[in-house]
Amino acid sequence: MDAGRRQFFRVAAAGAAALAARPVRGVQRGGETPAPAPAAYKRIAAEEAWGTAELFAEWKRVLDANPPDEPGFAALWRNLDPAGGGGFTPRLMDLGAGRLDAMDAAGIDMQVLMLTAPGVQVFDADRGTALAADSNDQLADACRRYPDRFAGLAAVAPQDPGRAAAEIERGRNTLGLKGVIVNSHTKGEYLADTKFWEIFEAAEALDAPIYIHPRSPSPDMLGPFVDYDLLRGDLGFGVEVAFHTQAIINAGVFDRFPDLKLVIGHGGEGIPYNLYRIDRTHPVRRPDDRAANPPSYYMRRNVYITNSGVAWAPMVEFAQRVLGVDRVLYAMDYPYQYDVEEVHAMDALPISYEDKKKFFQTNAETVFHLV
Ligand code: CA
Repeated sequence: MDAGRRQFFRVAAAGAAALAARPVRGVQRGGETPAPAPAAYKRIAAEEAWGTAELFAEWKRVLDANPPDEPGFAALWRNLDPAGGGGFTPRLMDLGAGRLDAMDAAGIDMQVLMLTAPGVQVFDADRGTALAADSNDQLADACRRYPDRFAGLAAVAPQDPGRAAAEIERGRNTLGLKGVIVNSHTKGEYLADTKFWEIFEAAEALDAPIYIHPRSPSPDMLGPFVDYDLLRGDLGFGVEVAFHTQAIINAGVFDRFPDLKLVIGHGGEGIPYNLYRIDRTHPVRRPDDRAANPPSYYMRRNVYITNSGVAWAPMVEFAQRVLGVDRVLYAMDYPYQYDVEEVHAMDALPISYEDKKKFFQTNAETVFHLV
């Protein structure tokens, strides 16, 4: 690691420490923002993070053994680990009273839970598959304890596509989980590669939506993001998932699996805003492009977006207009972004009651089969 990157990690750790020291708004009694009143719609938050003690212990073991191989992962861990200056792991591991209190203080009726990035995708296939199954068992237990408050997505290890497909089936049919979480690239590889398509085949057959959640960009493009401190929510996360989603579209995945559903967060990671230009560029793409339709066709037919981390009326209204009101779901991004004022802001969206109920409640119920 060169001096610039070491300096970056020192800066990142200091930033994480400041973040951890900040009070959790809304949780403290007498906090500055009152809980939103119950609404005529349920507030379902559809991209909420959690993690297991076993996963975090294995991450630490991998990072201690060989940190320079995964600088994006290392930076993420510093943001989470109390020992590294971050403080998210206790809240990530809590699937009980603390999380429920935070939901109550923010007026959140239900969370759709997913294993936090980069999940099990940094391990070898055997370890990743075993940790995914263990986390899914724990998540299913929590969903059984609080069936009105928690729904969960199954983690899988794409490192072994066949066993990942089997875990999707177990998650959906045995554990009652509602879909699949994939924390973007797996050791630099993307689901657009046909070697992963068993995963799509299982997800389509089981009507299990796949949520593609960000992590830092894959190793081949990561370097400049680290050098300029742009590898997280400011740019790198969005570039990574926008790339992954457009790669899946261009590979013809949705022509082969027309009923497959994908969900992406953060306002669609910039894709709605760029959709006109993406379509305009599509006809002159390289000759081996396999998608039969322009990207907007699949964005409006196979892809759903959440507003995780983006409680911003212009974005929500624009995405609803571009993709349709049935394709935009509410999400908070707990515990990484917990701000009760944002719930008030989304309650105040200048849209019809019908569209607001779709945004907060019924779109999530439909996509994730919650009712
Ligand atoms: Ca998130």
